[in-house]
Amino acid sequence: MRRPLLAGNWKMHYGVSEGVALVEALSADLTDLTDRDVLVCPPFTLLGSLAPLLDGTAVALGAQNMHYETKGAFTGEIAPNMLKELGCSYVILGHSERRQYFGETDELINRKAHAALANGLKPIVCVGEVKAERDSGQAESVVVGQLRGSLAGLSAEQLRSVVIAYEPVWAIGTGDTATPADAQAIHARIRAELAALSDQATADAIIIQYGGSVKPDNVDELMAQPDIDGALVGGASLKAADFIRIVRFK
Ligand code: PEP
Repeated sequence: MRRPLLAGNWKMHYGVSEGVALVEALSADLTDLTDRDVLVCPPFTLLGSLAPLLDGTAVALGAQNMHYETKGAFTGEIAPNMLKELGCSYVILGHSERRQYFGETDELINRKAHAALANGLKPIVCVGEVKAERDSGQAESVVVGQLRGSLAGLSAEQLRSVVIAYEPVWAIGTGDTATPADAQAIHARIRAELAALSDQATADAIIIQYGGSVKPDNVDELMAQPDIDGALVGGASLKAADFIRIVRFK
């Protein structure tokens, strides 16, 4: 029922020539996918060069962040309509690195989510607890709070265009992955909360990705969980062979 979404978050890596080589390798290989969606989210500076290369391929284009206004005096910021014009269909919002290093709050992420949807972009809304919160048994309550804040005021119809990425912060870039069972438990809780925010049919239609040190050797067991509908992949999305293997999870 849900089409898995495998997404690569390149973070602040790669210039044009490396980015072109990576998307050419991905699009040349991933020509036979019928049951899953693939997305790459390069730095802003590559979007204009990569969009024409991805046009007509199985690989969609997304951005890693955006502002919530469509224009104005916001030096250094990028508007949602600018991303749309360049060919983006998704935008990552509220990644833990943005929450941690740039002070992004649920309220700000909520404004961005509304703006993304108003401009025809599908937001990938990231949630996840830090290590101390997990160790003190607060993982679920932290994630539920982030969901309620980030998704406030969205209709059921809008929620169907939202992707949730559960990314335990302690698992990002560390090589430590949540066990499939622990990840599944949080994903099920997220889906229950999405049902409370809308209705069960809507919650059942929403893609919930797992992120945090997803690699070729752990993707299969994560994707086997009933409420894990895809992956948001950082480090392993920078190498064509690794990301292709992740996309081709069994
Ligand atoms: C991420 O940045 O969203 C991420 C999950 O990174 P990594 O796969 O490197 O842990």
